[in-house]
Amino acid sequence: MKTRIVVYSLVALIAALGWTFVKRPLAVPDTPGVPLPPLPNVQGVSVSVVSTAEIASLEAFSVRGGSFMNGFTSAIAAFLVEHPRGKVLIDAGAAREIDAHMKTIPFLMRAVSSLTVHQPIVDALKAGGLDPRRLSAVWLTHSHWDHISGLADLGDEVPVWLTDEEIEYAWRDEGGGRLFRELQAQAKPRLREHRFTDGAYGPFPWSKDYFGDGSVVLVPLEGHTPGSLGILVNLASGKRYLFIGDTAWAREGVEWPAEKPLVTRNMVDDDAAMVRDQLVFLHKLQTTNPELVIVPAHDARVHAQMAQFPNREK
Ligand SMILES: [Zn+2]
Repeated sequence: MKTRIVVYSLVALIAALGWTFVKRPLAVPDTPGVPLPPLPNVQGVSVSVVSTAEIASLEAFSVRGGSFMNGFTSAIAAFLVEHPRGKVLIDAGAAREIDAHMKTIPFLMRAVSSLTVHQPIVDALKAGGLDPRRLSAVWLTHSHWDHISGLADLGDEVPVWLTDEEIEYAWRDEGGGRLFRELQAQAKPRLREHRFTDGAYGPFPWSKDYFGDGSVVLVPLEGHTPGSLGILVNLASGKRYLFIGDTAWAREGVEWPAEKPLVTRNMVDDDAAMVRDQLVFLHKLQTTNPELVIVPAHDARVHAQMAQFPNREK
């Protein structure tokens, strides 16, 4: 009798766990979408992907409803945005000592993560002919280890921009802010705070038009972390990119839309309900603005469609 209860309980537990991986797209309200403001006419802005490392994972761990049969390459990358008035990195990619940085994440996550380093960010930039000291800023989508590792090698000259909510979170959050706090003690990055002082931008309630010409617009995207940031880049060609950090790991997170499965969501998302709202919001944004390319920080399939540094897309 006792054995039977144990077996039934185990089966129920496995079924419950299995359910958390079953595809359940989020409900999208049938309200009209808000278009993005028209493209500005700004020349000389470019975008490229600087691939620095990757972690082998499974689609099933990246988006709820993803397959256990399909691998998912979780890229650790930075994105270079060049504007006539400055060269900026979105996120910092991998540092030379990324192996040590990875030890700041929980054991369970490390145990299922197999890291391959392509080229640390400073070396990748130099190899492509860009002196890292010529960067005018690094904008972090958020403060987690895999977005800030490269700061360790960029020195204390390049200003590092985050939202004040994110700085506060990184100081406070035991796990998520661990490498951030270590880097504060060692590399001492020069932190700067973004302020969304430019009012609404399309459906986004607040924004910051960074260069003042409409080419690069920062928008709040809180949820994954309290100060997560989205960065919209408008190219002269008419192409528009929105970098969404880790709001979704896989593009399906926005396409379906669907959140991360429970297991990984619990480990990484600060406010799961807010992430769900953001995913629905981004899904709506995508269907209303089909020309927009939404770029999750880790989806190597999306990055592969973009210009690879030292190539640039204008
Ligand atoms: Zn990440």
